[in-house]
Amino acid sequence: MHASGPEELVGWLAGFGILAVVVWRAVQAFGTGAPPPDPWDEATAARLEDADLKPVCTRCLCPHEETDWFCPNCGQAASATTNWMPYLYYLSLGDVLRQGTTGDFPPRWVCKAGYRVTSLIAYGGVIGSVYGPISSRHVEVELAALVLVFTLVGIYWRQLANNLQRLRSDHAVRTADADAAVPLGSPN
Ligand SMILES: [Zn+2]
Repeated sequence: MHASGPEELVGWLAGFGILAVVVWRAVQAFGTGAPPPDPWDEATAARLEDADLKPVCTRCLCPHEETDWFCPNCGQAASATTNWMPYLYYLSLGDVLRQGTTGDFPPRWVCKAGYRVTSLIAYGGVIGSVYGPISSRHVEVELAALVLVFTLVGIYWRQLANNLQRLRSDHAVRTADADAAVPLGSPN
């Protein structure tokens, strides 16, 4: 079924009319809206202008220089542009993957899925970029690359599972400690 003629024209005009109203409203909202107030007081706002103030790592809170690509303490990407730099983003990706196998992170399903997908893409991409140029019409080379990718990803997932087990047992110990710290006679 394909509408044509005046009905289709009216439909298009109505669609464009609604779009024009939405765009106009959005432009008005952005152009005239008052800027939101800062969530901090004036003393803090003045302190933020201090040239000696150093940025801190978002993972370990260690101060670092404005020009640092990585945190000198924990190795996390420290600049807003590190992950866009060729070569440097490989180091950043390595840090992310290392965090999955040895670091502390909330063991939620989205984190676990993220580490699994990222490792698959990272190892698959590295192996693919090495084998890709020589693999055309060589089935055995492609199979070897596939086996290598799944071996590396399998090792990584095994280490990720070990770290998750450690995080879960740490969480259980902390919960037990917190329960033990509740004074007797409290309602809970
Ligand atoms: Zn750090």
